[in-house]
Amino acid sequence: MGREGSPGSALIVGGGIAGLACALRLADRGVGVTILETRKKLGGRATSFKDVRSEQWLDNCQHVVLGCCTNYLDLLARLGVRDRIRWYDTQYWIEEGGRVSRVGPGVFPAPAHFTESFLRASFLTLGEKLQIGRACARIMRVNRREYRDQTFGTFLSRCGQSERVIRRFWAPVVVSACNLDVARVSASVALHVFQEGFLAARASADIGVPSVPLLELYEQAERRLAAASAPGRVLLGSAAERIDETGVITTDGERFDADVVICAVPVERVCRLIDPAIRSRDARFARLDEFAHSPILGVHMTFDRAVLPPLAGSRNGETLPHAVLVDRPTQWLFRKDDAGKRIHAVISAADDWLPLSEDQVGKRVLADLHACVPASAGAKLLEVRAVKEKLATFAPVPGIESIRPGPIGDSRIILAGDYTDTGWPATMEGATRSGYAAAAAALGVPSTDMIVASLPVAPLASVLGLRA
Ligand SMILES: Cc1cc2nc3c(=O)[nH]c(=O)nc-3n(C[C@H](O)[C@H](O)[C@H](O)COP(=O)(O)OP(=O)(O)OC[C@H]3O[C@@H](n4cnc5c(N)ncnc54)[C@H](O)[C@@H]3O)c2cc1C
Repeated sequence: MGREGSPGSALIVGGGIAGLACALRLADRGVGVTILETRKKLGGRATSFKDVRSEQWLDNCQHVVLGCCTNYLDLLARLGVRDRIRWYDTQYWIEEGGRVSRVGPGVFPAPAHFTESFLRASFLTLGEKLQIGRACARIMRVNRREYRDQTFGTFLSRCGQSERVIRRFWAPVVVSACNLDVARVSASVALHVFQEGFLAARASADIGVPSVPLLELYEQAERRLAAASAPGRVLLGSAAERIDETGVITTDGERFDADVVICAVPVERVCRLIDPAIRSRDARFARLDEFAHSPILGVHMTFDRAVLPPLAGSRNGETLPHAVLVDRPTQWLFRKDDAGKRIHAVISAADDWLPLSEDQVGKRVLADLHACVPASAGAKLLEVRAVKEKLATFAPVPGIESIRPGPIGDSRIILAGDYTDTGWPATMEGATRSGYAAAAAALGVPSTDMIVASLPVAPLASVLGLRA
């Protein structure tokens, strides 16, 4: 053991965001960390791959961070890459036929910061906006933890939201943030998104988009660990086969031991790796097989010309940086180059798309693009690359919170990963929080010592009843 009872060494299985977050915090406290990662690169589900066809580094899918993701932003700062995020405070919603609504903060303080732009938006009628306003007033006041066993769809219909309002407003936000349809997603998870991600503070909903391939965000981790006071190391291409309380056996038969062992693999892998004797006595593992998954589809497209609508006020012909397509199966489009010829389409909760071929996927996205941006019909699609992530995230259904395990339990194995009981949906923020909580558990300190506080609730939001 190291100084003051903290462990001298830690073994972390999994080099995704949870594993990296845990590693950096432990290294900062003088713990010698070894990360075992089965793949040849870091970042897990939030990483990039070299596309053999185009020879370009592509992200498996566009990853977006919001202003409220205080822990993930802290992690990026620790990695020295926080400036590789480009920030936008405006969202662009495009309707069929091409009308663009700009929704961004105005003169009023949170939670009313979107009021002016929202009132000007054309994709909803005034009556629908008032309907949404009434639901938001209710969302401000509810204790979301009391809504863990019902769907957000039930919550919305009890708030008098029409089907059209759900399709045009609530669904695009919820499906993108939680990766599950309104009719299936737990109300508490969706309420969390609106409370903390939109209403709590002016900067909560700012959209951050990495300006480099995701992989580049995590490359610094290895160097930072090696330079720590107790130097750490990252062993890529090293897969754990069995994890017990004191160490790991890899698929190559090599054994690694350490003072603490942190399992930071995706939920569907955990039970396969943990020693069966430990699994049978530690209740955290009993219900992990109840987690279901929800897929995400990312579609990289290259055109012969810019396809998104022009950005108002831009002098150099710049197009919108991103857009929500209102009531279309393709939920988001992101511009991936300055010329606007490369775009990335994201379809969350993409179950219906999984059987489609790449060609069919391209055609469906194209149909959505043409419907919302009629001027794009003249552009020639040169290349499509569809990346299907079948097990993208766990499905945050009602009741999920009761089966999400904590970092510590009836064995010494510490758990980290986006599926653990962070209170967040499967996101980079949730994964970072889990990694920080795991580091706290390893050090024997309260998780509040490691987890960065959420953005403070704006005074008016607080007066109106919003609690973090
Ligand atoms: C397509 C897609 C789009 C997404 N979009 C967003 C978004 O816009 N914003 C957002 O915040 N989140 C998004 N997410 C969610 C986010 O990527 C995840 O929640 C987060 O990356 C999970 O991190 P993790 O460390 O918990 O798990 P993982 O990233 O899965 O990391 C686990 C690591 O363990 C390794 N591993 C597995 N088995 C072994 C073994 N036997 N031995 C050693 N290593 C092993 C894996 O290779 C992996 O690197 C998206 C996810 C996907 C898939």
